[in-house]
Amino acid sequence: MRRRAFLAVLLATSIAAGPAFPEPRPVGLRPSLTTDEAGLWDASAKAERGARQSADFNSDPELTAYVRGVTCKVAAPYCDDIRVYVMDRPVSNALMAPNGYSEVWSGLLLRSTSEAELAFVLGHEAVHFIENHSIEAWRAQKRRANVMLALSAGVAISGAAATANAPAVDTARSIQDLANAVIDGVYLAYVTSLFAFSRGNETEADRLGFERLVAAGYAPGAAATMWRNQIAEAAASDFPRVRSRGARANIFNTHPIGSDRAAALEDLTAKTDRTGDPGRERHRAAIRPHLADWLKDDLTRRDFGQTLHIIDRLAATGDDPGVLGFYRGETYRRRRKAGDQEKALAAYLAASRASDAPVAVWRELGDMQVKTGATGNARVAYETYLVNAPDAQDRWIVEASLKTLTGTSRP
Ligand SMILES: [Zn+2]
Repeated sequence: MRRRAFLAVLLATSIAAGPAFPEPRPVGLRPSLTTDEAGLWDASAKAERGARQSADFNSDPELTAYVRGVTCKVAAPYCDDIRVYVMDRPVSNALMAPNGYSEVWSGLLLRSTSEAELAFVLGHEAVHFIENHSIEAWRAQKRRANVMLALSAGVAISGAAATANAPAVDTARSIQDLANAVIDGVYLAYVTSLFAFSRGNETEADRLGFERLVAAGYAPGAAATMWRNQIAEAAASDFPRVRSRGARANIFNTHPIGSDRAAALEDLTAKTDRTGDPGRERHRAAIRPHLADWLKDDLTRRDFGQTLHIIDRLAATGDDPGVLGFYRGETYRRRRKAGDQEKALAAYLAASRASDAPVAVWRELGDMQVKTGATGNARVAYETYLVNAPDAQDRWIVEASLKTLTGTSRP
């Protein structure tokens, strides 16, 4: 009885808290200290400090400038209200906090095949900020009078999961393990509590994000393509649970994607007579310096079906054949299904003929050809490796292997 009375009081105060917000919000608006939004900004500022201090934060100035430039095109005139941080995390995700701090994860940049696809996601995130979706979500949670409970439970759950570092049994689990490995538990709790939007808000962010994409002069079709690619990638997963959940197997489930959302965007695309620039080459040029690192990160998820899906999409333009071929080889080599060693060898060989091949391709070719008994080819590969990577840390191992191959190794 007393508990019920307490909840009733809490409910009444929650509903009464805070003025209604004009939508869209005025440019440059900061909440006054007496509003409930001010508390939300405080929490966001803490999360933002966590992002900036995180080991995953990618501070490459050129990449930052690229993402900021795209943000400013689709978020105008709110450019100065929004700060986007690129985080090196091999999962497709983007977040928007109530104070305009936003994250784009490298997994999303790697999966975007054009600047327009990235622009759609950034436009979608900007709409969450511009339309005050966070404060709406916050008040909805408070109306359910469980926000503090949810927050403390979030800390407890992420803390428990962090200690249970069992080997990944499926991708959803491995993503969770990964998140726990890289993200501080409290930070994760902030993130999960701040970034869950209602389905209605998601639909609105898609629709207005689409309008912003088109107004900025980008190709309208990129919006649906982005979601369709994510759905197709989920279907390519090695893990049945991911395939059955589709693209909903998103780390925080903050932006669950269903084919209904892709269909709605296809409908909007069909209705517009505007055409625009996909910006495929600009996007690839911007992510090229990080392509190898991000593909290497993606392999840590051990969802080889998805990694191959991403590589196939990136390879469709014919760009970066050396890097993509090398990581295709790496994927097969690690997957170890029947026939994978042959596929790995073929991928490494193809990569080795490209001018952008990572030098490691020669080391892998040498190791593989030793196993298949092609010792002459193995020698050539190792020698090429030593010429191309004179300062390699594993030089002594390769030199020892070469001596064995030539029969000159000492007993
Ligand atoms: Zn969203």
